[in-house]
Amino acid sequence: MSLLPHDLFDVRSLLSDEERAVQDAVARFTDQRVLPIIGRCFDDARFPAELVPEIASLGLLGATLPAVHGGAGMGAVAYGLICQELERGDSGLRSFVSVQSSLCMYPIFAYGTDAQRARWLPSMARGERIGCFGLTEAHGGSDPSTMKTHAVRHGDDWRLSGSKMWITNAPIADLAIVWAQTDDGVQGFVLEKGMAGFSVEEIQRKMSLRASSTGALFFDDVRIPDSNRLAGVKGMKGPLGCLDQARFGISWGPIGAAIACLQETLAHAKDRVLFGRPLAATQSAQIKLADMARRITTAQLLALQLGRLKEAGAAQPQQVSLAKWNNCRMAIDIARECRDLLGAAGITTDHAAMRHALNLESVITYEGTETVHQLVIGRALTGFNAF
Ligand code: FAD
Repeated sequence: MSLLPHDLFDVRSLLSDEERAVQDAVARFTDQRVLPIIGRCFDDARFPAELVPEIASLGLLGATLPAVHGGAGMGAVAYGLICQELERGDSGLRSFVSVQSSLCMYPIFAYGTDAQRARWLPSMARGERIGCFGLTEAHGGSDPSTMKTHAVRHGDDWRLSGSKMWITNAPIADLAIVWAQTDDGVQGFVLEKGMAGFSVEEIQRKMSLRASSTGALFFDDVRIPDSNRLAGVKGMKGPLGCLDQARFGISWGPIGAAIACLQETLAHAKDRVLFGRPLAATQSAQIKLADMARRITTAQLLALQLGRLKEAGAAQPQQVSLAKWNNCRMAIDIARECRDLLGAAGITTDHAAMRHALNLESVITYEGTETVHQLVIGRALTGFNAF
């Protein structure tokens, strides 16, 4: 058997037939529908909303939720593979799916009532309703428990005031899961587009995740019926539980970005003749390429073991932190090195490396910065909380 440069340990052989089928279906979608348009979407700062119905029909929205709620009942590893193959196309599309599935459908499923699940989940799985997740505020995302957004009870309703910043999908969202301080601790509310006092502003001039739509949410005394409150959880464990789901997917996604960069750069290095021989025939290029293959392979094994632990109900938050940290760092370093090996050609969106490198600047920052995840591991090792 000849080994693939992006799978030197044949990690694919460790997958079930069903997982391989999911990976192949999403890989086809990325090759046929995403890659032909994504460079242009990034140039134009446009989220390719026309792909949402197909993403939904492939079962990629709420993929791990039970069929009764519109999900596809997939396991954690299958969800990870979805993230990996989508991010081989672009981190923006993977972000869209992460937010819809892990940050919006998951809390409605885990913390909502049967009536709330029936009301929102099936249409979200069909891609007819888009969600966003509002936790971060402008004064400091790494420390979300200091949030100023607050909700006060008025009879059967709540009144919400405050704002959220850097919210993926916000400009295209039909509903927003918003986390707010209350007299009873942090609680989650489902806000619907058009509620009086609820407004959204798109964030412009991003140099990263340009094919993803990002915005700020503003709440000016928004009246929310108590039936829109996620009553099943109180305190920071609500939003943190959602982030744990999303971070799991994010530990897989960047593997796809790194594979895309390695494949593109390998092809280029074999073709590019400098000083009378292919760039790929030089020792320094080979060492760089070999090192990329090493890092991708170890990231895949890490993600797969995390997935198996998650499926067994045994994954710990610090394991998710380590995987998110390692795999984002692996991918951003590889994307930057690939950009270098592509020379000047690497600086345009005709090649993928620069786009992935720029996207990964967001991926390494959101859902807990690299430093935050390092401090989570440090706390687990030493017992001292350094935050
Ligand atoms: P800060 O918290 O101000 O951090 C600044 C720096 O300080 C970082 O380098 C950080 O590592 C470092 N730092 C923090 N704490 C410590 C410490 N104790 N010791 C040493 N250094 C420290 N949020 C949402 O709620 N929903 C979304 O959908 C969403 N989407 C996003 C999309 C994009 C494109 C981006 C860029 C962000 C998104 N975010 C979202 C916000 C994201 O989660 C935050 O940006 C992130 O948590 C970091 O917060 P911050 O930007 O305020 O940086």
